[in-house]
Amino acid sequence: MKLAVFLSGLLVCSVSLHAETFDVIIRGGRVLDGTGAPWRYADVALNGDRIAAVGFIDAAATARTVVDARGLYVAPGFIDPHSHAGPALAKRELAGAEPLVAQGVTTVLINPDGGGPPELGPQLAAIAQAGPGVNAVPMIGHNGVRIAVLGYENRAPTDAELEKMRALVRAAMQGGAFALSSGPFYTPGNFSKTDELVALAKVAAEFGGFYTSHIRDEGDYGIGLVSAVDEVITVAREAKLPGVVTHIKALGPHVWGLSAEVIKHIDAARAAGVEVWADQYPYDASSTGLGAALLPPWAQEGGTGALRARLANPEQRARIRTEMLANLDRRAGPGALMFRRFTPDPSIEGNRLNAVALERGLEPVDLAIALLQKGSPDIISFNMRDDDVVAFMRQPWTMTCSDGDLVKFGEGVPHPRGYGTFPRKLKLYAIERGVISLERAVQSMTSQPAAIFHVKERGEVRSGAFADLAIFDAAALRETSTYEKPHAIAEGMRWVFVNGRAAIVDGRFLDVRAGRVLSRRD
Ligand SMILES: [Zn+2]
Repeated sequence: MKLAVFLSGLLVCSVSLHAETFDVIIRGGRVLDGTGAPWRYADVALNGDRIAAVGFIDAAATARTVVDARGLYVAPGFIDPHSHAGPALAKRELAGAEPLVAQGVTTVLINPDGGGPPELGPQLAAIAQAGPGVNAVPMIGHNGVRIAVLGYENRAPTDAELEKMRALVRAAMQGGAFALSSGPFYTPGNFSKTDELVALAKVAAEFGGFYTSHIRDEGDYGIGLVSAVDEVITVAREAKLPGVVTHIKALGPHVWGLSAEVIKHIDAARAAGVEVWADQYPYDASSTGLGAALLPPWAQEGGTGALRARLANPEQRARIRTEMLANLDRRAGPGALMFRRFTPDPSIEGNRLNAVALERGLEPVDLAIALLQKGSPDIISFNMRDDDVVAFMRQPWTMTCSDGDLVKFGEGVPHPRGYGTFPRKLKLYAIERGVISLERAVQSMTSQPAAIFHVKERGEVRSGAFADLAIFDAAALRETSTYEKPHAIAEGMRWVFVNGRAAIVDGRFLDVRAGRVLSRRD
């Protein structure tokens, strides 16, 4: 009896002596680990920038910060494979990235659509200097590289020029880029042929990179949606690397319903051993420039000056106008185009093309031409059908992206996806509509992009991984940003950790700027 008392005393003593200490303990949450596995109750402990333990953590363990996560979901921080936040992350005043962190986003891939500078060094240095609130993953853009070597010329590169372009891609990959991004829909990417994209993708493949493309045609402008998806498949097969159809969609009434055909082609490619993926934002409107949406590519050859000269020539103007009318139809008409930011004429911002045209007594196409003579306003283009959005979302190879901008709060009329993508997909599409499960939705924004893009040791809630976490209240989770009033921070994230540091504390954003510029070589 005496011995038993003595022994139990010793046990209590030894437990308290060895009680573990962590920087952070997150207790009692429903852990969505990012792999797609069903959620489970588990505690999560953090030390430094890493997850130290996941599971049952003894009540005696202590931490400087204890998060009561009862009633909350604990997910890996979200990874956005298509973000236009690059320029803002290089600016001190915007780099904190509250609109992203408030969605649970902790990592973004920058320079999508073939964009960004041809040499990444200065950009990445500026982002590191500004102190980013999220991790930045660099890609090298085909359009940037083509402009550096060929300007806006509509022709194939010579062998020497192609070698220069390959050297720029190689330098970027050696400098830590993760991928080649392309945008053959945009000028001057649309002046390239598939073999040029294959030649550059082969360089990315040497480094274990991937290829992601805003495809040549998301509607029926030229080669058509299905052939444009086939081009990504061709690049992936020929260059032997993963290919991503970014922000996959069926754009415009002429191609609505074609999601079924696109899905067949991607499934067939995958069955034949070609690694093809897609990402998608959960909205029925896209955003681009008015010029890119309506102008025929030949009219944009040579850049803005050349375009203005063509518009001043009555014969060429008439030809451009005819083609623009057809393109307006492809975009579901002038009522489906809403203006975003346009400094030369701010009175149009937030209004639709048909409404402004009526007000000014002009045909919509003529208003569009008048505006294009001053510049190319950003537009929101309502051009998708829900059944296509849903069909793409259901595919096991479709990830989540935002395609969003990071802008100064209150400035211009951005697409709401920059503020709301991740909560919207979780709340509206997974929880409310049940299009996919919550687990699958989280996987599509965490472990799946991390694995495909080789963003190492992120995207999962597991011991040893980086401590990027999004902890949310499913009942309170919602995007508040709308097309009409886009400047609104998402709600429902209770805690967000970036590299082990709390950037949202009990619902309150802290500008801690714990993000890093990631390198493929890490
Ligand atoms: Zn795009």
